[in-house]
Amino acid sequence: MQIIRDIAMLHRAVTALKQGGKSVALVPTMGSLHDGHLSLVRMGRRVADHAVVSIFVNPTQFGPNEDFGAYPRDEARDAALLVEEGVSLLWAPDVGTMYPGGHSTHIEVAELGADYCGAARPGHFDGVATVVAKLFNQVRPDVAIFGEKDWQQLAIIRRMARDLDFGIDILGAPIARDADGLALSSRNAYLSDAQRAAATAFPEVLNAAAQDIVGGADVGDTLAKAEAAIVKGGFDSVDYVALADADSLERLSAFRKSARLLAAARIGKTRLIDNLPVG
Ligand code: AMP
Repeated sequence: MQIIRDIAMLHRAVTALKQGGKSVALVPTMGSLHDGHLSLVRMGRRVADHAVVSIFVNPTQFGPNEDFGAYPRDEARDAALLVEEGVSLLWAPDVGTMYPGGHSTHIEVAELGADYCGAARPGHFDGVATVVAKLFNQVRPDVAIFGEKDWQQLAIIRRMARDLDFGIDILGAPIARDADGLALSSRNAYLSDAQRAAATAFPEVLNAAAQDIVGGADVGDTLAKAEAAIVKGGFDSVDYVALADADSLERLSAFRKSARLLAAARIGKTRLIDNLPVG
């Protein structure tokens, strides 16, 4: 596996990978890799001839009081995992390469970025969309893989690829979970043992809420009950528990087939997100 940090070298390496009409799948990550990331890599290897993974902890998608400095980083371990998965190329630029002095152009995500995580983290999705657009232009993959774990992000990237005519297929990969149901996340590493034990309440409550909604329970009541149950389970606060249309992300007050339950909650300093289909 080649590890590349320079854009000119990246272009040469990707051109070589594509020789003979070979296809490339890109899996963008912020590193600190777990089985969720690796499931995306495996999907990339299934759908394309080469998997390219990027690792870049993107400062522009973190708010001033968020965890950019503390975000876990271990490139050597990540690289070893990616070698085992048969990844062709690791693109690992530093901040100066991604945002050279004078960088002043960014993508603004309107409607799809306004609610949910976008409301709780102002500017977050503008940072995500901008860095993903840059990664798309840098690597020029045929397909890019994103996790359903970040449902709003996936919807935003799909829309951006369409709106800006990237000509890249965007694939979503199912959420990888621990045995107790908690979605794998690099941020789970922040949890103390007690917090990790309590965190299992999050997917449990969401599953129960989804079942209640399918069973005909009032949506508003069910969401309010779920928020209370998450706090009772040991979380400090809930950013949102919402029923949304899976594509438009419009909030729903009644069940319909395309519904998805979306949630974010905080336990100690850690903010966790999850989502699941309803029905
Ligand atoms: P991150 O490194 O957190 O930015 O995530 C990189 C990619 O991995 C994103 O597309 C995430 O949605 C995806 N991802 C993170 N955790 C999971 C998970 N538990 N299951 C599936 N995909 C995930």
